[in-house]
Amino acid sequence: MFISAKRNTIRYFSLSVAILLAMPFGWGKISGFTNWISPFIMLNSVFALKSLVLLNGLGFVILIATWFKKRFFCRYLCPTGCMLDRIPKRNNLANKHSFRNIPLIGKLLAISSLTGAIFGFPLFIFLDPVAIFNGFFNSLIQVSLYSFLISGAGFLLLLIIQWIWPGLWCKRICPLGGLQLLVWDVKSLPKRVKPTTGKENLGRRLFIGSAVGAAAAIAYPFVVIGKEVSIIRPPASVTPIDFYALCTRCGSCLKACPTKILKQDTRFGAGLLTPEVKFENGYCLETCNACSVVCPSGAITLFDVDAKSQLIIGKATLKTTDCLLSFQKECDRCKVVCAYKAVFIKAKDNESIVLPEIDPVKCVGCGACKIVCPKNCISIN
Ligand code: SF4
Ligand code: SF4
Ligand code: SF4
Repeated sequence: MFISAKRNTIRYFSLSVAILLAMPFGWGKISGFTNWISPFIMLNSVFALKSLVLLNGLGFVILIATWFKKRFFCRYLCPTGCMLDRIPKRNNLANKHSFRNIPLIGKLLAISSLTGAIFGFPLFIFLDPVAIFNGFFNSLIQVSLYSFLISGAGFLLLLIIQWIWPGLWCKRICPLGGLQLLVWDVKSLPKRVKPTTGKENLGRRLFIGSAVGAAAAIAYPFVVIGKEVSIIRPPASVTPIDFYALCTRCGSCLKACPTKILKQDTRFGAGLLTPEVKFENGYCLETCNACSVVCPSGAITLFDVDAKSQLIIGKATLKTTDCLLSFQKECDRCKVVCAYKAVFIKAKDNESIVLPEIDPVKCVGCGACKIVCPKNCISIN
């Protein structure tokens, strides 16, 4: 009784912290911090990028804890599991449904995703429950009903599944749960502890999961190539095809961005719910690296603000025919605002007028000139 009460206290505390940090309250670099404690995101990211950052240590610590306590993350920390447990059960029969005849899909998803990650494409990282939980709160910053529904769809679907088949997601499908069961299975190999399911053959499961993951990862680039939509990504993003696979859709970058230029792509396709840059009311600050700090998967690579002049997110192009200077009116806003000294105002050969010109080598596509131009003559591509 005491242990259960203590466990519940920890779970509710974790849930409260997770909700608070997932809310779009302008937390900056601690937005969606709970993503970092997911060992599933951590392993997929480390395997795919073959590198790690300091915060990956959090996911690693939880993975170690799973070795000592079966399903440690589910028991104490998972905000999704804690929320799902609060959903009223549809009927009493549902309580008795143990899903014993349904295979442990979560284990297969975990093995396939991690194998895919070794090949560079973590196939199911977007199914991480913490990412789905954090992603749901992005629906609160959407401006249309369509984007609200699309943005929150993952978590809403889990709530519906839980209502119809209580426990199905956590017990059978969740890849983070599956990963923890795999850790326990490995521990059980020397027969010190009971494996997660008696009849299962870990070797066979590993073989099938790895074969599926490897085949899917090899086929993946051929499936998505040519289907990329033209999009401006945050600075230091990985290549478009890698981004589709690596981004968890957690939306932490959107919440962390101080100028709110990151929006979710709501077009159906490989990039659904990934972040894109839209220069509507702001630009990418020369002093900011927030999106790269909060990104738990490395889809946006961690960078230093000093390197910002090397990080190209687009290129500015100028339609001088609309420029105020073409009408002999004074303006130098684009030149003044450019922190990278990429805009020059100079006289055209044999002409009396002066016009702005953008140096394509120095321009990083930050969008500052675009948003200050009173005639809207600058576009970023
Ligand atoms: S680096 Fe740019 S896109 Fe990223 S959070 Fe900062 S302002 Fe936003
Ligand atoms: S790019 Fe943004 S949405 Fe994708 S994993 Fe990184 S922080 Fe989350
Ligand atoms: S987008 Fe405009 S302000 Fe930004 S670097 Fe290019 S020219 Fe300068």
